[in-house]
Amino acid sequence: MNAPHNHERMEQDGLIGLAQEIRACTACPLHRSARQAVPGEGSAESGIFFLGEAPGYNEDVQGRPFVGAAGQLLDELLAGIGLDRRSVFITNVVRHRPPENRDPLPEEVTACDVWLRRHLELLRPRVIVTLGRHAMYKFFPTESISRVHGKIRKSADGLVVFPIYHPAAALHQPALRSALVADFAALALFLAAEPPRPKEPEAKPVDQMTLFRD
Ligand code: URA
Repeated sequence: MNAPHNHERMEQDGLIGLAQEIRACTACPLHRSARQAVPGEGSAESGIFFLGEAPGYNEDVQGRPFVGAAGQLLDELLAGIGLDRRSVFITNVVRHRPPENRDPLPEEVTACDVWLRRHLELLRPRVIVTLGRHAMYKFFPTESISRVHGKIRKSADGLVVFPIYHPAAALHQPALRSALVADFAALALFLAAEPPRPKEPEAKPVDQMTLFRD
């Protein structure tokens, strides 16, 4: 195997440093009830950035995203389009498990925004795949997932976003599984048609992004 390019090395170093900062985060009360933070994992290799909702029981125990039943389905969907979780980056809208797996509160999501911004600045993905409505709301706060899933869209900040259903929803409603399979096929077509863009030139200074302002 070839030695990693410089920017890949810098990306991996940046991810390690960022994960350490996230593990030390006390910006919202969730860090008190959770066992540990789940910073996210993977690489920028494929340019795909998955954004889920929040760690559940298994993620809280292992400190890794999507390692329970929903994660197994995500792995299967990735394998269906020839991808492996190590070639994508996977994280969540909130990085600590909410008690009893309740929905994250708006103030918890806001407190965690800084980490999403930092991950996006570092990895500059080709496409952000949002899993479920909480992740979709970050980019399209007035949309409904049943309307927009499976379609590539630009956010107000010019980020390329592909909203899909959350894999956990498909575990409860089997009809959603075929929608997810179809959406992954559409994602594969998009990736095949869209050549990866060069990393170096800065497209847009992040301080001009409006996404994370209130
Ligand atoms: N569901 C999520 O949204 N994220 C995880 O990490 C696991 C399950």
